[in-house]
Amino acid sequence: MSDTKRYNAQLDGAAFDTLAVRAGQVRTGEHEHGEAMFLTSSYVFGSAQEAAAIFGGDEPGNVYTRYTNPTVRNFEQRLAALEGAEQCVATSSGMAAIFSAILALLNPGDHIVSSRSIFGSTNVLFQKYVSKLSIEVDYVSLTDMDEWNSAIKENTKMLFLESPSNPMNEVADIKALASICKAKDILLVVDNCLCSPALQQPLKLGADVVIHSATKYIDGQGRCLGGAVLGKKELMEEVVGVLRSVGPTMSPFNAWVMLKGLETLKIRMKAHSDNALALALWLKEQPSVNAVYYAGLPEHPQHELAKSQQSHFGGVLSFDVKGGQEAAWSVIDSTRMLSITANLGDTKTTITHPATTTHGRVAVDVRLKAGITDGLVRVACGIEDIEDIKRDLSFGLSQL
Ligand SMILES: *Cc1c(COP(=O)(O)O)cnc(C)c1O
Repeated sequence: MSDTKRYNAQLDGAAFDTLAVRAGQVRTGEHEHGEAMFLTSSYVFGSAQEAAAIFGGDEPGNVYTRYTNPTVRNFEQRLAALEGAEQCVATSSGMAAIFSAILALLNPGDHIVSSRSIFGSTNVLFQKYVSKLSIEVDYVSLTDMDEWNSAIKENTKMLFLESPSNPMNEVADIKALASICKAKDILLVVDNCLCSPALQQPLKLGADVVIHSATKYIDGQGRCLGGAVLGKKELMEEVVGVLRSVGPTMSPFNAWVMLKGLETLKIRMKAHSDNALALALWLKEQPSVNAVYYAGLPEHPQHELAKSQQSHFGGVLSFDVKGGQEAAWSVIDSTRMLSITANLGDTKTTITHPATTTHGRVAVDVRLKAGITDGLVRVACGIEDIEDIKRDLSFGLSQL
């Protein structure tokens, strides 16, 4: 490649929309316009001496894809640019991201305070596996600062939360929690899956670590599993260490898919959010609907807070129908287009009954206390025409 020609984009000071399509790309000698995909498990060396130098860390270079891969690095650098993070570490799934962060950043005897309304598998991970490391987890209400404060103990090293929560759309005050953490030398970890960096950038609100299930909105089209951990270099170096020795690495193929997903993330998130807001307003008018839970509604208790820390309100909402489980199931079963699945973050709208699926194993009193009633239906809005989504739901709702 000639030194006098510019094959790579200069991105100093570039904005989010520009970084989303260009950050992290380093073109090869073939001068490809699109991002290259490096499907290789290992790398060759020019000589035994070079191999020794790269293995020893005296010279930069790739050794093995469990440690580094150019396509995975491209994804990591692009997502880091969008979250405003010093470094991103890509993982094989969202669960791998959460476990890698905990394994890297905590020690036996440490204590985690987590919001109660977290992803179901995260809950199982904490209770069944993180507990094996002698790390205890206590749970609090996402929105109750007094509960957060009084749950913090001498050995608390991490606060963990998702905001907005799924399926109830509660919103945490990330800045307020960050200031508690700063004063006490505790890490604030935010699972930013429901917003993605297109709607919310927790590091800029004071969080220390951001977690992603890239499986959801970052891919956005239901193709691949992936995850990421983001934050300061010194913290991420520990996470890289876990990847090297434990192996929950993102595959280069998945990284390439996610990389292309990032290019359209912001316009998709706006479309998801616009549909969800329009649907929430329409659902509120339906006589068979008791309540609608969406932070974009002005009457939502954390509406102003959500507005201050998110640019849109996201694609996930839930609503409670009159008539309990039977009514909820009949609304779901009378749809003809929406996908009946617990997944979210897809261009296709999905519908699910949390009480008997995602929260089916949660104790009834705990589930009801969290607002997940028998009549609750969750919709994760896709980007279809909103009139078609409404029409599909109206068949069942009009029969209640
Ligand atoms: C799906 C999800 C996860 C887990 O991600 P996987 O990629 O499925 O492992 C974690 N957190 C949240 C909020 C999720 O929705």
